[in-house]
Amino acid sequence: GQGRGKAARGAASEMKRLLLWLMLLASPVAAQTIDDPEGMVMGVGREDGSEAGFRNWVAAFRIKALEAGVPAATYDGAMRTASYLPMVVERDRKQSEFTKAIWDYLDIAVSDDRVALGAKALTKNADLLARIEAQYGVDREVVVAIWGLESAYGTYRGDTDTLSALATLAYDGRRAAFFEVQLVLALEILSDGHVERGALQGSWAGAMGHTQFMPSSWAEFAVDFDGDGRRDIWGDDPADALASTANYLAHWGWTKGQPWGLEVRLPEGFDYDQTTERVKKPVAAWRSLGLVPMAGGPLPDGPEASILLPAGHTGPAFLIFPNFQVIEKYNLADAYVIGIGHLGDRIAGGPPIAAGWPRQWRALTLEERKELQALLVAQGLDTGGVDGRVGPRTIAAVKAWQKDRGLVPDGYPSPDVLEALR
Ligand code: CA
Repeated sequence: GQGRGKAARGAASEMKRLLLWLMLLASPVAAQTIDDPEGMVMGVGREDGSEAGFRNWVAAFRIKALEAGVPAATYDGAMRTASYLPMVVERDRKQSEFTKAIWDYLDIAVSDDRVALGAKALTKNADLLARIEAQYGVDREVVVAIWGLESAYGTYRGDTDTLSALATLAYDGRRAAFFEVQLVLALEILSDGHVERGALQGSWAGAMGHTQFMPSSWAEFAVDFDGDGRRDIWGDDPADALASTANYLAHWGWTKGQPWGLEVRLPEGFDYDQTTERVKKPVAAWRSLGLVPMAGGPLPDGPEASILLPAGHTGPAFLIFPNFQVIEKYNLADAYVIGIGHLGDRIAGGPPIAAGWPRQWRALTLEERKELQALLVAQGLDTGGVDGRVGPRTIAAVKAWQKDRGLVPDGYPSPDVLEALR
């Protein structure tokens, strides 16, 4: 019946997407792929950053896009009005430098205003959210929290021309293959008639609509919830966008009714080797180790969980559940995941985070994080590189160093740790 037909179409589009990826990844756009007897496009530089260079790139990429199935009329019509956006390149390059302490981030992400507006949005869209929750099995609060953080509940959906942003990033070349695919998929959105050319807008990084989907997420997860034939995540009506978000979370394994995390108090003398996302235990095991919810009472039953100390042992501690990893599919940063989870809890009437943050500290800059890693390496520890990215190995190295000095081994790279290493 209908179900089988739908599944078959799904499989066919999955196959098409796979082929598209392979084709685009196999050969990045280059001048020599063009039939160009007069040599007009030889020496097209990705990096010269000029409008003329960009126009040449658009002409060169046409071949790839058409091979990938974009109709010529769509490409020519849509890309005529795409332009090089230097602002996009600047912001993309700045992004890795950007650091904000998690408490500063959460002050904004879960401000009283955003909580109040979220409660209003929950009431105003109660019917829609109930239907989405019933169909996808995803709690409405987390959907509304993503909406709240991604676009302030639809207020700021972004007004950067998506094709210009994606083409600029593909042309800039730092992650060309990724953005080439995104651009082709965005062009397919147009050729399939889901949105008008002028309304295909979003963030400088190519994320679109109420919940800021990249075109690849749109291709895989966007749904036509209101049944008008368009998977419209851009327009004023949030129905398709919110259902698409629920669909995305459902796909990655959201469990309805389960918390993302729970603020807990660790007992005196707790073994900090257990405070890593990698150590997973049943809730009963954590209970017997003496963990209690900050809100009082015993730990509720739940699936395997791990402990997260996003700001070290002097800040809040969270017991995190599999739904935490589902939110990570939107964005890997702890600050983001806690922001979404906590905003959802607050919208549902839950209490603020109870423990204080170590606000006397600031986040280390990129240069300082590199210096920290270099100093740890000089002590014979493995940080997984000196790249300024604090991953599991850097955290493990900080822990080892702290243990060696008789400090609480929480693995948090505070300014104090850097100062002591110096
Ligand atoms: Ca629709």
